[in-house]
Amino acid sequence: MKVPFLDLSRQIAAIRDELDVTIARVLDGGWFVLGPPLEAFERDFAAYCGAREAVGVASGTDAITIALQAVGIEPGDEVVTAANTCVPTVAAIEAAGGTPVLADVDPRTHTLDPDRLEEAFTERTRAIVPVHLYGQCADMAPIVEIARARGLKVVEDAAQAVGASYRGRRTGTLGDVAAFSFYPTKNLGALGDGGAVVTDDPEVGEQARLLRVYGERERYRSLRSGWNSRLDTLQAAILGTKLAHLDAWTERRRDLASHYVGALADTGVGVPVAGDGREHVYHLFVVTVNERDAFRATLEQAGVQTLVHYPRPIHRQPAYERLAPADGRLYECDKLADRVVSLPLFPELEDAEVEAVVEAVRVAAGA
Ligand SMILES: *Cc1c(COP(=O)(O)O)cnc(C)c1O
Repeated sequence: MKVPFLDLSRQIAAIRDELDVTIARVLDGGWFVLGPPLEAFERDFAAYCGAREAVGVASGTDAITIALQAVGIEPGDEVVTAANTCVPTVAAIEAAGGTPVLADVDPRTHTLDPDRLEEAFTERTRAIVPVHLYGQCADMAPIVEIARARGLKVVEDAAQAVGASYRGRRTGTLGDVAAFSFYPTKNLGALGDGGAVVTDDPEVGEQARLLRVYGERERYRSLRSGWNSRLDTLQAAILGTKLAHLDAWTERRRDLASHYVGALADTGVGVPVAGDGREHVYHLFVVTVNERDAFRATLEQAGVQTLVHYPRPIHRQPAYERLAPADGRLYECDKLADRVVSLPLFPELEDAEVEAVVEAVRVAAGA
């Protein structure tokens, strides 16, 4: 049996009729940029997060940049984030004019270690961008407490964690502002690029709205320098249609994850660890193994496709070696990068496919 890492066509087939109706409505409606369909999705998405405001933007990367600028990040400000994130997080910090500073993570949850933040701070630190990696929230209570004590802003990178919660509150409400991505493979994916800035603070929401459209509140009168980063109306309508299915998809992801965790418990393969009070949405199901290349080769022979998120931490990327701290403090990220491997997990994965993955992992682990 061939088990794909991800097959988006299954989701589209399942809701094809609804999507066709939605797309036809946009074609007939005559709004292609901004307008009522976008506003409707923004209201629904804010409500989903439990936040006051959602502002649709062109991508998750732009959402991070705009969120940082909306809370006042300026050129030269240092912004601390996790070294095991993907490149867009640091690209977005630099696009906002900030200087990324990399911090290490808790190896159990792969998210920022609050006890290791201090070593990344300088007198120029202005913000922290916790990354809710793989769909699990960072340990937000201590992170926000440290930020408050130092007067730092907290910008959630929630690109992988729509619907995830921390002590009962969803992503989008856990810091000053949050950035979401609707890249097609994300848990809530558009049929193209998209993103959103979510916040409880009306002033931050207002700034994000200005920044995404040339700093204009009204046409042709610019209040601050911004640029063009709008969420297409067509994508917003599609996302609104998909949002109604998100909880069911998340539930299926959680069922699959708990099945994997149970079935792999005795294999020696490291399965995801749920942090206290954190409800994971399993954007990715990432295990840790010692001999990764051999492990992946065995799975591939069994027809099971795997990926690595991510093979190289930020400071090992040619473009970002300059961000490597002199004191070598990113050792957990370095160690994890050699050991992580992502197994197929998406809502439309069939039970027989899940069994094939479990079987292949057991063989690869010699269990
Ligand atoms: C996908 C992703 C982004 C970027 O989102 P795009 O919509 O692709 O620009 C940023 N951070 C994380 C953690 C992501 O997974």
